[in-house]
Order: sequence, then structure tokens, then C-alpha cells
Amino acid sequence: MKKINIDELVRPHILHMKPYSSARLEYEGNDGVFLDANENPYGSVSGGQHNRYPDPLQMQIKEKLAKVEQVREEQIFLGNGSDECIDVLVRAFCEPQKDAILVCPPVFSMYEHVAEAQHIDIVRVLLQPETFQLDMPAIRSKIAEMPNLKIIFICSPNNPTGNLIHADDIEALLQEFSGLVFVDEAYLDFSGQTSWVHRLQEFDNLVVIQTFSKSYGMADARLGILYAQERVVHFMNTIKLPYNVNQYSQELALKALDKISVKDQYVSELTAGRDYLMNELAFIPLVQKVYPSDANYILFRVQDANALYAYLIQHKIIVRNRDSAPLLKGCLRVSVGTEAENQRFISVLKQYSN
Ligand SMILES: *Cc1c(COP(=O)(O)O)cnc(C)c1O
Repeated sequence: MKKINIDELVRPHILHMKPYSSARLEYEGNDGVFLDANENPYGSVSGGQHNRYPDPLQMQIKEKLAKVEQVREEQIFLGNGSDECIDVLVRAFCEPQKDAILVCPPVFSMYEHVAEAQHIDIVRVLLQPETFQLDMPAIRSKIAEMPNLKIIFICSPNNPTGNLIHADDIEALLQEFSGLVFVDEAYLDFSGQTSWVHRLQEFDNLVVIQTFSKSYGMADARLGILYAQERVVHFMNTIKLPYNVNQYSQELALKALDKISVKDQYVSELTAGRDYLMNELAFIPLVQKVYPSDANYILFRVQDANALYAYLIQHKIIVRNRDSAPLLKGCLRVSVGTEAENQRFISVLKQYSN
């Protein structure tokens, strides 16, 4: 059991800040004469029924998610994409020009992006070359040196390298670090592993995010999920904008959570597509290395990534060029597409090698 006093970790001015009290939170019934929010009672110029503000705490979604993940509703925060979850977390816990976050590149750049925008120090400890696992001695020395370190960001499966981060290392950080350990599970569904969400009771400092953008195929709805202990969620709710998840996204999420088997079907098709791409890439001479993947994308290395990237663009195939990221010289990242898209990608790639 890792006990952390979240009240000592949160930015001091937020500790006693009152949440914005929206009209919709002061009266919770569904029927009545609603004259509290300055809405237009007649209807919507756009057509349809859009005149009422949505539920600021998205309770119906949280009820369903709490059942699926076996957590309490108060341990869930929903955001306008997981991007917003990351942003609100950093804003709640990191004091500009004082506190720091730790990231392990090559990794998803959003953690750095929100920290930079808020003038928060960023400490970078590169992953180990080729295995892309955490450099634990280097992370430990940063923890020891930096009392202002508030959040360690880990992405597992890691974007863009595709590998899971060793659970033992994550657990060691949860044990040893007295700040927050953030685990990004955007691609967890493709790995077949169980979520860290189930360890929330053990570690007060554990924060997990998931998203509707990838396996659920709902990227344009912008809906991210953060799981953490209640006190963390409380402070995030305190500072978030009141109506951060719009009504349509809330309705879509409710529908999706009644059809989780459809997501499972997508996941199995995408992992089959990943296997196909893996096998094919391994036999293409210009591909020097294909990295193992537990996600819905594959990182591979060639001699000249920029040239291959440009060639693929000419053939209207767009992949991600990671050539300039640390440790990733020569690397491209390709997302798993439909069967036809995967075949097209492979056939265009084969022509290049000729
Ligand atoms: C795509 C992705 C997300 C999801 O972001 P949303 O804002 O929810 O769309 C989160 N983390 C990583 C590492 C990702 O690659």
C-alpha cells in the first residue's frame, strides 16, 4: 500500500479553491421549470434539441465505466480527449516555473506540450536504445535529485515504439516515487494485458488514462478517461471548465459502452492486420528492422526514412516520420489500416525496393 497525501501534492492555491458551481449542479432533478441557466426554452436554431447545457460531471457515463472497470465513480475524470485529462492534471499539480515533470522519449509529445505551455520544467530520461524500456537508474537519480518533480509520465504500450513497459519497473516507481505516476493506456486494448486501473487501491499515486479515440474508433468525439484516487479527481474537477464534454460525445459514449463487443471485434481485426504487416515487413529487403508491437501501429527502420516517407506520400500513403526523434533515426511508424489499406501499403513498399 502506497499512501500519499494528495493535499500536499496539489498546487497550494487549489487546495481550498471552490469548484465552479454550474446551474446544473445546484438542482439535480430532471423535471421542473428550468429558469436557472439563461437557456433558450423554445428550441435551437440549428434544429434538433440542443438548448440545454450538458451534465458537467457526465454521471451516466461514469456509472457505466465504474461497473466495467470496478472502480468508484469518484475515481473517474472525463475530458475533451485524453489530451484535456493530461492538461488538467498538470495544471492541478504543477506550479509554473517551480515544479517539473519527467518524460521518457521517444514518447507521445502531449505531456511535454502541455507542460511547456504552462512553463513547467521538463526532465527527459531517454528510454533504453532498441528495447525501449525505462532507464531505471537514471530515473531514480532524477527522483533523488529533484524534490520539485511532481509527475512521471509513462506510456504503455509506448507510442511510437509499440512496446509495453515492464510492469515491474512501473510498480517500482509507484513504490519509490512520492509524486504521481501516470500510465497512458491509450493502446492497452491491443496488448491483451490487464489495466493498471485495477491497482488503484494499492497505489495512491497511480493515475491511468484511456481513450475512446483508438480501439473504440471515436477520435472525433474527443473523449478521454482518467482514473485516479478520488482526491486527485476532486482537484481536477475543481479547476476544469464546467461543460468540458459536450452532450453529443456523452451520448455517443453511452451507446458505445453498451456495445463493448463491437470494440473487441475491431481489436481482433486490427491485431490480425498488425500480424499481417509484421510478417510482410520482415521480408522486405529495404526494411532493416521491425520492432515488436503491442499496439495498432508498427515502428520500422530503413536506411533513409525521409526518402521513403516522401516516396510513400507520392503514392498517397501517409505514415508518421519519426526519423528526427531521439533513438529513432531511420524510423517510420505505420498505423494498422483496413485489410485493403495494409495490402496497398505493402505493395507500394515492395515496388520501392525494386
Ligand atoms: C492517441 C493517443 C492518446 C489519445 O488522445 P485523445 O486526446 O484521447 O484522442 C493518448 N495517449 C497516446 C499515447 C496516444 O497516442
